Amino acid sequence: MTGLDLLGPAQRGLFIGGTWREAEAGEELAVHDPADGSVIARISDAAVSDAIDALDAACAVQADWAATAPRERAEILRRAFELVAARADDFAHLMSLEMGKTIAEAKGEVSYGNEFLRWFSEEAVRIHGRWMQNPMGGSRLLTVKKPVGPCLFITPWNFPLAMGTRKIGPAIAAGCTMVVKPAEQTPLTMLALAAVLEEAGLPGGVLNVIPTSRAAEVSSALMADDRLRKVSFTGSTEVGRILVRQSADQLQRVSMELGGNAPFLVFDDADLDAAVEGAMVAKMRNMGEACTAANRFLVHESVAREFADKLAERMGALRVGRGQDAGVDVGPLIDEDAVESVSQLVTDAVHDGARVLVGGTRPDGPGHFYPPTVLVDVHPESEINSHEIFGPVAPITTFATEQEAVTRANATEYGLASYVYTRSLDRTIRLAESLAYGMVGVNTGLISNPAAPFGGVKASGFGREGGFEGIEEYLDVTYVALPVG
Ligand code: ADP
Repeated sequence: MTGLDLLGPAQRGLFIGGTWREAEAGEELAVHDPADGSVIARISDAAVSDAIDALDAACAVQADWAATAPRERAEILRRAFELVAARADDFAHLMSLEMGKTIAEAKGEVSYGNEFLRWFSEEAVRIHGRWMQNPMGGSRLLTVKKPVGPCLFITPWNFPLAMGTRKIGPAIAAGCTMVVKPAEQTPLTMLALAAVLEEAGLPGGVLNVIPTSRAAEVSSALMADDRLRKVSFTGSTEVGRILVRQSADQLQRVSMELGGNAPFLVFDDADLDAAVEGAMVAKMRNMGEACTAANRFLVHESVAREFADKLAERMGALRVGRGQDAGVDVGPLIDEDAVESVSQLVTDAVHDGARVLVGGTRPDGPGHFYPPTVLVDVHPESEINSHEIFGPVAPITTFATEQEAVTRANATEYGLASYVYTRSLDRTIRLAESLAYGMVGVNTGLISNPAAPFGGVKASGFGREGGFEGIEEYLDVTYVALPVG
């Protein structure tokens, strides 16, 4: 099983207006296996004219789609959820193949990502406004929620399914149409998802998928169009800033899920074994290629050595290899640039005085592999503490007081995920309130949950995905004044 069976010859094209077709100019995009660089598929490569066709298709059906019964939209999402669940293994293999993650990780993402379809199928029928009496008397105030209109979704390569479903799910539920531009490294999963949504009965034009090697050109052209009303982006802060600037011209609504620099705080009253367990999840999920990945370990000085030794033992026991091979715990990184960037951060940290407890040297041979690595005595000013690592490296520094831990945890431009290990309820409350992050995991290394509002503050962006909040990103509010005689 390779998962490629999810895509027939037609589904290697663009999905526009409910039909599969080739890019107008006939250009192709090669998708590579990150384990050895070989080409696993060739698909159509959209140009600007194809993207405009996709937006035309989305705009053509927006009004009809907005007028469908919420229950109908809910049922389509629910059917898609069932179809993905029935093909979970194929989806997992396809994702593992194009992205590199292990099959176990990919299965985890299928169930997580698919859950957004189920969650938002349930939310589709709970979009309501309000009715209230004017405080001054004499009239009623009503609110009506309406879909924002055609959306553009730009998604990253690290979670090819989940980063799509957390936008597509609520948009479908809210009654929006959309153009999706998946990451050029991992477009196959999105094409397979489009095929499932088509099979689930989604009307043509509601979802349009345009893989392209010209991300900037295509998204600029779409955002220059005043028919596009919303942009939701998951990716780097650098690109997020560009898109927010571009959104100014047509004043599109924007949701930005950007980079992170998650601190992982371990206090002296923590259950240390649980903290190591949580650290493995927070650090190693997706090989560290996650915006929620623990980026900096801040450990109380009295338990730092024990924590580091235990973590190094666990990290050193992980097997690195091809994501599809049995017994492999850690797959390849996405590409050569990723390995270079991680290697450089480690080299610089060591130059600044860090010691390598385990890992730290890139293996010889083909593929974009980097070993699980634990660094201690990391200089607080080392770049690895301020830069998003996006790889399997755990840099550990120590702190003496809670105040110091919070100050250092907050000393970053980012504010997405944070993690805390402590047994004190008082401390938990203080930290939940003082950590400048959109999410705080307490005694857990896994915070992602479709029922929870995922998102950040500061340079990690704005907007929330999932939870009750997730659908609001796709709804506008109209207030109606109703005088009563
Ligand atoms: P990464 O560096 O992790 O690949 P990016 O932010 O570059 O993260 O990519 C995330 C998504 O943004 C991908 O779909 C990519 O194609 C897209 N992208 C990259 N640059 C731009 C841009 N200038 N405008 C619009 N989309 C872009």
